[in-house]
Amino acid sequence: NRRILLAAHPRGLPTPADFRLEETAVPVPGDGQVLLRTLYLSLDPYMRNLMEEIGPGYAPPVPLGAPMVGGTVSRVVQSHREGLRTGDLVLANAGWQDYALSDGSDLTPLGDMPQPSRALGGLGMPAFTAYVGLLDIGQPRAGETVVVAAATGAVGSVVGQIARLKGARVVGIAGGADKCRHAVEVLGFDACIDRNDPAFAQLLADACRDGIDVYFENVGGAVFDAVLPLLNVGARVPVCGFIAHYNDADVPAGPDRLPRVTAAILQKRICMQGFIILDHYATRYDAFRRDMAAWLAAGQVTLREDVVDGLENAPAAFIGLLQGRNFGKLVVLVADR
Ligand code: NDP
Repeated sequence: NRRILLAAHPRGLPTPADFRLEETAVPVPGDGQVLLRTLYLSLDPYMRNLMEEIGPGYAPPVPLGAPMVGGTVSRVVQSHREGLRTGDLVLANAGWQDYALSDGSDLTPLGDMPQPSRALGGLGMPAFTAYVGLLDIGQPRAGETVVVAAATGAVGSVVGQIARLKGARVVGIAGGADKCRHAVEVLGFDACIDRNDPAFAQLLADACRDGIDVYFENVGGAVFDAVLPLLNVGARVPVCGFIAHYNDADVPAGPDRLPRVTAAILQKRICMQGFIILDHYATRYDAFRRDMAAWLAAGQVTLREDVVDGLENAPAAFIGLLQGRNFGKLVVLVADR
C-alpha cells in the first residue's frame, strides 16, 4: 500500500521534498467498514491550502506525516458493511494512497458508470462549482459578456460552456496558444486570450469592447488587474478561487490597491460574492446532475481530462497544476481495476 504523505509545509510553490512516499501494509477493514482500492485520484487547487499549518476554515488542514487528502473513484475490494458489495464502484475520499478504509458514510455508489473518472470532474465537484457559481451568483443573461480564466481547466471550461448555452458572449483567458485554440475551437468560446502575452491587458480590452458583465474569478493576480477596469455597472463577480496567490508566502509588495478595488465595487455597483461548493450539495446538486447529463447527452458540453499515470507521479502533477501545466481536469490513474 503506497501512500503519499505531507512531509513539510511548503513555503511558496511546493517542491517534491514537501511530499513523502511511504509503503505500509494494506489495512484490514473492521466491523462496518469497507476496504477501497483507489482507481482515480483527483488533483485540485484547494489541496494547496490544506498543506498550510493553519487551514482555510472550510476544511481541516492535512497534519504533517498524514496522507494527502483527495477525492477518488475507488473500487470496494472487501466489505463488512451492508449495502456495499465487493466490486462496487464508488466516489470516495480515499486520498493519495492505493488503499483506504471507509465506514461507508462518505461514499457515493457510481453503478456501472462509463468513464468513471468524470465523477471527479465534469460530473462532479469542479463542474458543480462552475454551475452554482455561474448560474446562482453570476446570473448571465443573453447578450452579456462573461469572462473566465483558467478557461480550459476543470471549472473554467464548464463555466464558459454553460454561459454560451445561456446566450452570453464568452471570453476565456488561458495560459498558452494551444489552450486558447482549444477554448475557441472545441469548447465554443467566442474568444480566448493568452495570459502570458505581453499585451494581455490590451488584448483582453479589445475582446471585451462592451465591457464585462460577469467575471467568474478563478485566479486573481494580473488577470484580475486587467479585468477590473473593464467591469460594467452592475457586474457580477462570483469569487471561486484565486490560484495566482495560493503560493504567496508574504503579503505582496507595492502600493495598497484595496481602495481602488473598493472604489470600483462602489461606483460600478458590483456584486462580488464568494462561495464554497460544499455548502450547495443539499439544495443544488440534483439540478446540476440533471442539467449536466442532458447537456452531455446532447453534445452541448465537452469535457477534457488530463490523466497522469501512477500514484508516484501525483506530487509532480500537482506542482504542475499550480503552474498551469495541466490541460483539462487533472486526475491520476492509480490502478485500472
Ligand atoms: P484548473 O483545472 O483550472 O487548473 C488550474 C489552472 O489555473 C491552471 O491550469 C492554470 O491555467 C491556472 N493558473 C495557475 N496559476 C496561475 C496564475 N498564477 N495566474 C493565472 N492562472 C493560473 O483548476 P480547477 O478548475 O480545479 O480550479 C479553478 C479555480 O476554482 C481554482 O482557483 C480553485 O481553487 C477554484 N475552486 C473553488 C471551489 C469553491 O468551492 N469555491 C471549488 C473548486 C475549485 P492556465 O495556464 O490556462 O492559465
